[in-house]
Formats: sequence, C-alpha cells, structure tokens
Amino acid sequence: NTIDLHSKIFVTGHRGMVGSALVRRLQAGGYTQVITRSRAELDLLDQRAVLSFLEQERPDYLFIAAAKVGGINANNLYRADFLYQNLLIEANLIHGAHLAGVQRLMFLGSSCIYPRDCPQPIREDYLLTGPLEPTNEPYAIAKIAGIKLAEAYNHQYGRQYVSAMPTNLYGPNDNYDLANSHVLPALMRKAHEAKLRGDDEYVVWGSGTPMREFLYVDDLADACVHLMERGYDGPLVNIGTGTDVTIRELAETVMDVVGFRGRITFDATKPDGTPRKLLDVSRLAGLGWTARTGLRDGIRLAYESAPFHNA
Ligand code: GDP
Repeated sequence: NTIDLHSKIFVTGHRGMVGSALVRRLQAGGYTQVITRSRAELDLLDQRAVLSFLEQERPDYLFIAAAKVGGINANNLYRADFLYQNLLIEANLIHGAHLAGVQRLMFLGSSCIYPRDCPQPIREDYLLTGPLEPTNEPYAIAKIAGIKLAEAYNHQYGRQYVSAMPTNLYGPNDNYDLANSHVLPALMRKAHEAKLRGDDEYVVWGSGTPMREFLYVDDLADACVHLMERGYDGPLVNIGTGTDVTIRELAETVMDVVGFRGRITFDATKPDGTPRKLLDVSRLAGLGWTARTGLRDGIRLAYESAPFHNA
C-alpha cells in the first residue's frame, strides 16, 4: 500500500451508489480522513464553489464518483442535462484539483463510452474508433471529454489522473425509479411488486436479446481502492467481471432470487440499446484484481438492501 491511512481522500457523489460504496470500502480499509460533501454543502456545477473548496481542503486524493446518471430512458430523454451537467462536474473537479495541487485523482465513467458496434470483449484502446450508441451519446461524449481532460493534465502538467470505466453496476443505494433506473434495479422491483400483487407476468423492456455485464458495486469500490493503493497512474482501465448474460437470462435470475413464479413478457416498444457491451478486463487482471461477487449472490445482496423490499 502506497497510501498513508491518514491521507485526505475526497469522495464526490457519496450519496450515490458508487460514492457510498467507496466510502464504505475506504472506512473499512482504515482510512481516517474520508471527506464528503452533500449537494447542499457543495454544488459541483458551481465552478467558484468547487475551486474554493478544493483550495481550502487540499485533499491528497480525489474520487470523481459524482455524475448525472440513469438508465436507457433517462439518458435518451434528458440529453441536454446529461451532457451539460457531466461536462461541468468533471471540468470543475479536474481543473479545480489541478489548481489546488491535487496530484492524484480517479475519474469514473461507464462502458457506454465505447463505440456501439466495437469488437467484444471491449479493450480500452477501442475508445474513439467508431460511432456511439445514440441513446446514451450525450453521457458518453461528456465522459470521453473527462477522460481526455484527465489525460491532458497528465501530459501537460505531470499529474497522475486515472480514469476507470466500470461496466453496468448494481447494489446498495441504486436508483429504483422504474422510469429512469438501469435494468437490474428495475427488474428487481418489478418482479418484487408482481410477486406481492400475485400477477402472473412481469414486463421486461426490449427484446431480451441484448447482452450486458454486471458488477456488484462493492467489487467496483474494491477495484478502485486497489488501483489507488498500488499507485496506478497508467492509461484508462476497464472494471468488470469478464462475463455477460442476455437480458432474458438476467430477468430469469431476478425472478428466481425474488421468488416471483410468473412469466416474462417483452415490451418491444422500448429500445434495446447497444446489442452487447462486455469489457475486456485483462488490463485490470494484470494489475492484480478480479471480481469476487457472482451475479446471483450480488442480486441477492442488492435485493436484501433495496428500499422497496424493506418498506
Ligand atoms: P444500457 O445498458 O445503457 O442500455 O441501460 P439499461 O440498464 O437501462 O438497459 C439495458 C437493457 O435492459 C436494454 O436492452 C433495456 O431495453 C433492457 N431492459 C429491460 N427491462 C428494462 C427495464 O425495466 N428498465 C431498463 N432501464 N432497462 C430494461
């Protein structure tokens, strides 16, 4: 471990799924100065506020887990918000970190930054080799700009700003809003509610044939802290499990875990999005990390912590 346990580590987005997992992991790892600020305390869209906070606080390390995020529907509907807010958050934090002398940060994005039809599994160097999936192009463009911004500060100023791109994530503090969430939280909630109502079917969007890879968020946090502790300052790194499932298989596993005994119907009026996005995780494996939590176990853990389950 290259990091002093008393280092100041600022985690942005700590109320979200990723940020809260990072805080849990850092605290469990014995870090004593994990800094967080709520949106009311620090508006990350406000450049001056971000700058003065960073200059005052001078963290040793910064995790950028704050972002405007959502599922296929939200990304497609709120295109301006996704592009504008993500550009501002990352520009304010990365530029602000540089001005405040923060030498190391980790910028998080997602696997949708890669071209829609790129070869599978997706290697880091496929970035910018083809057109993006239209439903999440605004988010992807913002995240690609963030990666390039971090790289530019490394190149021009010798910073050690690392970008990590996780696959689809799930776990505690996920968004379970049916209109705007990602597929896995939506399916857990739909299956749960169908079970409670005694329905004989539950509705899954699209055709069921797209393939997705899912990583339990505590595994992601562990990977991020692993990279930080190793002092990794190389190029963009994918974070995933290396295996994927069809949406139909996913829907079946969810039914099983939730204990809903009906059947699946597909709503073909909803978009499928990218046909497949499986990350190549060999760079990460070469750095000594592999995912631990299997999909069924992870879904069980997420389901147990879901707010609708315990309501
Ligand atoms: P994506 O990975 O960026 O496409 O985002 P999502 O996680 O929102 O969707 C993944 C896939 O799951 C797409 O093919 C969706 O059509 C499909 N899907 C099936 N049912 C649902 C649902 O209830 N909500 C969402 N968000 N996606 C669903």
